[in-house]
Amino acid sequence: MSALQIAIDGPVAAGKGDIAARLAKELHLLYIYTGAMYRMLALACIQEDVSFKDEKAVFAVLEKSHIELVRPEKGSKETFLAKLNGEDVTERIMEPDTASGASDVSVYPNVRKVMVTRQQQLADDQPVVMEGRDIGLRVLPNAQLKIFLTASLEERAKRRYEQWKLKGIDVPMEEVVKETKSRDKQDMERATDPLQKLSDSWELDSTHWSQEEVVDVIKKELERRHLV
Ligand code: C5P
Repeated sequence: MSALQIAIDGPVAAGKGDIAARLAKELHLLYIYTGAMYRMLALACIQEDVSFKDEKAVFAVLEKSHIELVRPEKGSKETFLAKLNGEDVTERIMEPDTASGASDVSVYPNVRKVMVTRQQQLADDQPVVMEGRDIGLRVLPNAQLKIFLTASLEERAKRRYEQWKLKGIDVPMEEVVKETKSRDKQDMERATDPLQKLSDSWELDSTHWSQEEVVDVIKKELERRHLV
C-alpha cells in the first residue's frame, strides 16, 4: 500500500495548521505547511521591492530565491521551519503583509506550477499531512483522506485577531474581518486551482470544536476507513 497522505484544504484561519501539526505528531507523519512557501515568496518580493502585481518580476524573484521548508529538530517547539535564502523567517512570514502578499503572488499559474512540483517532491512517497488550498485538487490528488476544514468567518477572524495580539501585532477587529474576507475571495475566485470543496473531500466545520476534538474526529475517520 502506498504511504498515507492526508490533504487538508480550507479558508484562512480555519485551524488547518494546528490540526495538521497535531495529527502529524500523533500519527508520526511529516507535516507540510504549503502556505509558508507562498509567504516566503511574498517576503522575498517585499525585500526586493518588487510589486506583487508584477507577474514577471515576481516569477524572477521566485527563480532566484532559495525557499526552503525544513523539518524542525526533534523536541523543538516549532512545527515547521521556514528559510528564505538561508535565513530563518519562520516568525516573520506569519505577519499580515506576507499573508496578503502570499494570496497575491499565488494567483500566477507559473508560480503555482513551481510550488506544486516542489511540494510533491517534499511529500516524496512518505506519510504526510499537507495543508493549503489546492492540496487535494492538485498537489496530492491521490490522498487517501481529503479534508475541507472550515469555520465561520467570525470565528476565524477572532482566531487571527488573537494570534496576532499574542505576537504584539495590533490590528483592529474590523480590519481583520475585512482582510480575511478579501483573502478568501481572492483564493476562491482565482483562475488557477482556486480553493474549493472537492466532490471527494470530507467537510469538517470546526467553529464550535476545540483542536483536540477536531483531531480526535479525524483519527476516528482514519480508523473507520482502515487507514491507520
Ligand atoms: O495557509 P496560509 O493562509 O498561510 O496561506 C497564505 C496564502 O497562500 C493563501 O491565502 C493562499 O493565497 C496561498 N496558498 C495557496 N495554495 C496553497 C497554500 C497557500 O494558494 N497550497
